Amino acid sequence: MPIPSDQLRYILGDGGHGWEILIRARQLAAAGDPPLNLCVGEHDEPTPPEIIAAMERSASAGHTGYAALEGTAGLRKALAERVSARQGRACGPQNILVTAGGQSALHYAFRAVLDPGDAAVVIDPYYVPYPGTIRAAGGVPRIAPARAENGFQPDFETLDAACDGARALLINSPNNPTGAIYSDETLEMIAEICIRRDLWLISDEVYDGMAYGRPHRSAAALPGMAERTLVVGSMSKSYAMCGFRCGWIAGPEEMVSLLFSLALNAAYGLPGFIMDAAEFALERPEIEARICGTFERRHAVALRALAGAQAARAGASDGAMYVMIDIRPTGLSGRDFAHLMLEEERIAVMPGESFGAAGAGHVRATLTLPDDQLDEALRRLAAVAEDLAAGRRSAAAG
Ligand code: PLP
Repeated sequence: MPIPSDQLRYILGDGGHGWEILIRARQLAAAGDPPLNLCVGEHDEPTPPEIIAAMERSASAGHTGYAALEGTAGLRKALAERVSARQGRACGPQNILVTAGGQSALHYAFRAVLDPGDAAVVIDPYYVPYPGTIRAAGGVPRIAPARAENGFQPDFETLDAACDGARALLINSPNNPTGAIYSDETLEMIAEICIRRDLWLISDEVYDGMAYGRPHRSAAALPGMAERTLVVGSMSKSYAMCGFRCGWIAGPEEMVSLLFSLALNAAYGLPGFIMDAAEFALERPEIEARICGTFERRHAVALRALAGAQAARAGASDGAMYVMIDIRPTGLSGRDFAHLMLEEERIAVMPGESFGAAGAGHVRATLTLPDDQLDEALRRLAAVAEDLAAGRRSAAAG
C-alpha cells in the first residue's frame, strides 16, 4: 500500500496501549474461566429500556435522515439547561455543540484550540486516550504529574511550570482513573494559571453526576473562566448510554459557532434518533439519579471492603466509577500486582501505570460489579496485598 500519513503515525505515539490485563481477562473469559472484572469503565447494567424505547419511537417516526449537525434544537436546549444548573451560570443552546460522545468532544476541543506543534498539558494519571487525542489535533501532550500523597490533586509549582508556553490545559474532575474530585482550592489555582497564562481550559466533566465524597464544581463557573473553557460532557456514564455515542461541548458562543465547520466536515452530526433518545433521558433526571445512585452505593461498598487495609488504600476516591488503590506497601508495581491478581486470584484490575507514571504502585478498580461481587473482589485484593506486605506471600509464587 502507499505510505500512511505521518499524521497517523504521530497519533499512535509509542504504540503502547496499557490494556494487556483487559485483553488477558477477555481471553480467560473466552476460555470459560472468567475473572471478576474490575477493568472496564462501562456499566454492568444495560441502558434503561425506556431510553431505548424512545430511540425506537423516534426512528420509527422517521427521524433517520440527516439531523441538525450542531444537535437538534430540543437536545441543545435540554443540555443548556443541564449545564446551567450544574455550573450555576447562564448557558443557552448557542453555547452547546452535540458530538459523538465525550471522545469526539475532546477531539473537537483540541482541534479548536491547538495549532500544529502547540503544547497541551495533561495531568497524570490520565484517561488513556488523552495524549493521542492531543496528537490527533496536531498538538504535543505535556505531562504534569499529580502526586498520590496529594490525593492526586495537582500542585501549583508542577502545574504552573508545565503550563509555561502551552496553549491549553486539560483537566478531568471527577477523575478517571483516580476518582479524585478537585477541591475549590485546586480549581481556583487552575483558574489563576489559565488566566495569567492566557490558556484554554478543556474541562472533561463526563463524570459530573458521580460525586460522592465532595461536590463537583465546574471550573467554567469560576470568575473569568467561562470565556476560556470548553466543558466536555457525555450521556455515556450518567445515563448508561456509552454505545449511543452522544456527548457535547459547552463553551463560548463564538467558539461553538466556529466549531460548526469542524462538525460539518468531520462527522456531519449525529443520528436524530440518538439525539431524541438523549433528550428524552435528560428530561428524566430520575434515571441519572438511579444510575449514579448505584455507583455511589458501590463506592461505599468498595471503601468498606478496603477499610483497615494498610497495604491497599483508596485514598483519593471521591467520585466517578473508579477507586484507585495504593498497593505500594506490597513492594510490587501496579503492573506486577495486577498480573498476580489476575493469574492467581482471577480478579482483573488495571495497573496504575497504564494511566501514566504518576499512577505507579496503584491499581484501578471499576465499580462495575454487583455489590456482593465487588465486595468479595476487593476484600480478596486487600488480603493479598496485606499478605504480600507482611511477607506471607511471594509475588513469584504464581
Ligand atoms: N473522558 C473520560 C475521563 C472518560 O473516562 C471517558 C470514557 O471512559 C470519556 C471521556 C469518553 O467517553 P464517551 O466518549 O463515551 O462519552
